[in-house]
Formats: sequence, structure tokens, C-alpha cells
Amino acid sequence: MSVRLIAHTQLVSRLIEEKMEVDVDSESVEDLLEFAGRTCYLSYDKPNPLTRSNEDYLENILAQQHESVLEHASASFYVEGVSRNMLLELERHRFLSFSVVSTRYVDARKLNHVIPPALGGGLTPLTDEDLEDYDEAMKFLRDRGKSVKQAREAAAFYLPGGLETRFVVTGNFRAWRDVLRKRLSPGANAEIREFAGEVLTSLRGIAPNAFQDLEGL
Ligand SMILES: Cc1cc2nc3c(=O)[nH]c(=O)nc-3n(C[C@H](O)[C@H](O)[C@H](O)COP(=O)(O)OP(=O)(O)OC[C@H]3O[C@@H](n4cnc5c(N)ncnc54)[C@H](O)[C@@H]3O)c2cc1C
Repeated sequence: MSVRLIAHTQLVSRLIEEKMEVDVDSESVEDLLEFAGRTCYLSYDKPNPLTRSNEDYLENILAQQHESVLEHASASFYVEGVSRNMLLELERHRFLSFSVVSTRYVDARKLNHVIPPALGGGLTPLTDEDLEDYDEAMKFLRDRGKSVKQAREAAAFYLPGGLETRFVVTGNFRAWRDVLRKRLSPGANAEIREFAGEVLTSLRGIAPNAFQDLEGL
């Protein structure tokens, strides 16, 4: 699978630096989270020595479950090589936003079949055998005058859950943390656990302090 971070929240103003002494070790997106939290008490002068560093401040935010602060930053990923089965599970997380390849418009032959992690993982091209029912439905409906789109949307009923899907997914940091807590757990499906591991690695790269309490795979 490929899970690529393609965008995340950036600062476009010096206002935070003007109002608050920014931690030299923090990432700018983490400064945004701290600034948002400190706005609640106008505590930009950092009166509590125990939470002067950004890491300690966000550790306390996480411990207090003051997680609405984390909604101010978001991250988007482009995902390829995962199964539609996995997407079905990921879409249950209602605070994530998706744009997904359409099987009504896109020929299934442009996609692959995902090999389950327990069988080694990776991708394999769809065979004519895999697509026998799909092709038959397409031909049947096209021969009876249905448009390509009408025929594809019906033929898609015969596509397997292991068919590859591709999508852009965006979530704010609070939403991602909730997904990660649930999908990194040993009880989660192996494919979505792998996905969650990739997401956590990327998010730690841009905001380690905001994800400091989560353990990877
Ligand atoms: C290991 C594992 C096994 C699973 N197995 C199954 C299964 O067999 N069948 C199945 O159907 N699902 C299954 N799920 C999916 C699970 O039930 C949830 O749908 C999924 O984890 C998303 O969680 P969520 O609803 O808390 O997340 P989100 O939709 O992201 O919601 C986040 C949080 O917002 C709050 N919230 C959101 N919507 C509401 C609401 N309407 N009312 C009140 N509070 C709300 C809740 O606090 C919620 O935890 C499984 C999940 C896991 C992790």
C-alpha cells in the first residue's frame, strides 16, 4: 500500500510569534495548537513552568482530553493499493473526508487486486477470470443499449471486496487520533492496522508532540 501525506495545515501569519514566545523545538503546526489552547486562558506568557515547552503543553492537553484544540490542524493523504474492504472500515470514521475513485466512471481494469496481508500483501493485476461476471454484465447491458456509465455501475456489483481503491482522505488531528487509537489496536483488521501505522509515522513527522502518546505497530 502507498499512504502519502500530501498536505497539512501551515501558518500564514506571524501573529503567533508576536503574541507568544514560540518553543524553538516545536513544529509550526504544533505552535498553532498551543496558541489555540493558550487563547482559552490568555496564557501566552506561559505562567506554568511545567507546561512551558510545547511538548509538555500538548502532553497536558492530551492528558486533560482537551482535544478540541487539536481540531485546528488537519492532514490529507493520497492512498493507493488498499482494498475496498479496508475503505469500508475507514469510512465508518465520520469525521474523515473522502474523495474516492468511482467504479461507475473508471474501468475496473485500471485497478489491481489487493493481496491480503496474511497471504503476503501487495498487488496483483486483475485476471480475465476475476472479471468474468463484470465483463459479462457490461456486455449484456451495452448490447441492450445502456450507456457505459449505466453498464459500469451495474457491473460493479460483481467486483470483489479485494479490488484496489484509491482516494484522498483528510482529517483534523483529533479525528486522526481517534482513528489511530481504534485502528492500531491488535484487534483491528491487518490491512487497516498497516494503514494506521503509515498514517501515524507521517503525522509524527509533522507534529510529534501532538501524537506523542500513541504507540505505533
Ligand atoms: C477492532 C474493530 C472491530 C470492529 N468491528 C465492527 C463490526 O464487526 N461491525 C461494525 O459494524 N463495525 C465494526 N467496527 C467499527 C466501529 O463500530 C466504528 O464504527 C468505527 O470504529 C468508528 O468509530 P466511531 O463511530 O467511534 O468513530 P467516528 O464516527 O469517527 O466518531 C468519533 C466519536 O464521535 C462520537 N460520535 C460520532 N457520531 C456519534 C453519534 N451519532 N452519536 C453519539 N456520538 C457520536 C463518538 O464519541 C465517537 O467515538 C469495528 C471497529 C474496530 C476498531
